[in-house]
Formats: sequence, structure tokens, C-alpha cells
Amino acid sequence: MMHADVEEVLLSGEEVQARVVELGAQLAADYEGREPVLVSVLKGSIIFLADLVRAMPIPLSIDLMEVSSYGTSTESSGQVRILKDLSTSIEGREVIVVEDIIDTGLTLNYLLRYLHDKGPASIRICCLLDKPARRLAPIEIDYRGFTIADRFVIGYGLDYGERYRNLPYIGVLRPSVYGAAPPA
Ligand code: 5GP
Repeated sequence: MMHADVEEVLLSGEEVQARVVELGAQLAADYEGREPVLVSVLKGSIIFLADLVRAMPIPLSIDLMEVSSYGTSTESSGQVRILKDLSTSIEGREVIVVEDIIDTGLTLNYLLRYLHDKGPASIRICCLLDKPARRLAPIEIDYRGFTIADRFVIGYGLDYGERYRNLPYIGVLRPSVYGAAPPA
């Protein structure tokens, strides 16, 4: 059943699951014998990460980071604060950054520079949702689930005010829930 705060289901749970399985198979084939480390950013990406790794039948490891943007005035600089750092070294490792959604790209742009400095053998990006309309930092996405229009989406890990992460589908939030302007 659709949640009352959801205006439209953009991607059903079945569509998301099917695409995640495809991405996992593609990654598993590409990274066979390379034991990649999947680096994900809390909290939005954990649902995607959890399903993705179960579609990858190869040796791999997982690490998690948590970041927060500085205030909106400095957000355009792409400065982010690291709340939780990697718990293992990625030096010489094959890194796959697993992201829920790439919007402006500023968060990821900062993160990529940070990860590069740690000397990994390679870094590739896997995102479930690509929202290219508002992109400010050029990001080369290696594995992409879906390209979506510039709408504020929730579910499958994505929140609004920490709610809706547990919805099994990707939905568009009813505007009456957030008032005049969509959250950005
Ligand atoms: P970026 O730095 O690419 O603008 O922002 C990426 C982050 O902003 C995502 O990881 C996510 O937390 C949040 N975000 C961007 N677009 C949306 C959206 O449509 N819905 C939700 N719930 N979060 C979003």
C-alpha cells in the first residue's frame, strides 16, 4: 500500500530490486578476483548497500562513513564535515563508493578527493539514483541504477526529516508535507 504522504511511486520495490540485482551482477563480474571495498555514506545508502552486496557473490568488504554538510552558506564550496571516518585502510584497495543519490554532486566531490588522498588502487562510483538536473560538480558515474527528474524523492533509504527510509519503493513526497518549497 502506498504511504499517505507519497504523491507518486516513481520506482516500485520490484523495479528497484531488479535493477540492484543487475548492478550487483555487473560489479561482481567486473571485480572478480579483486576483492573490492565498498565504501558507503550513512545513512541513506545503507539499504541500497545491503541489497547490493547480497547480489555480489565475490569476496568483498564494506566500510561506512558519515558526513554532514556545513551550513547552507558554505554548502556551495562542497565543504563537508566527517562525522565518522573509515574504520580500515583503503591504501592499495579497489574502492567502490556506493551512494543512494547524486544531486549537486558536491558531497561526493569532496569525498572523492578525501578518498583519493588515502592512496587506493582505484575508485569507482556506483549510485542508485542520478539526478543530473542540479549537478554543480562534474562526477563520472561508473554504475548507475536510474536517472531521475529533479524531484524530491524518499524511500529505500532516502529520508525527509529522518522519516520514510523504510519504504520499499522510491516515491515523490506530497508537497503538502514539506510546505512551500521542496527541501534542497
Ligand atoms: P549532493 O551533494 O549530491 O547535492 O547531495 C547528495 C545528498 O543529498 C544525498 O546523499 C541525499 O542525502 C540528499 N538528497 C539529494 N537529493 C535528494 C532527494 O531527492 N531526496 C532525499 N531524500 N535526499 C536527497
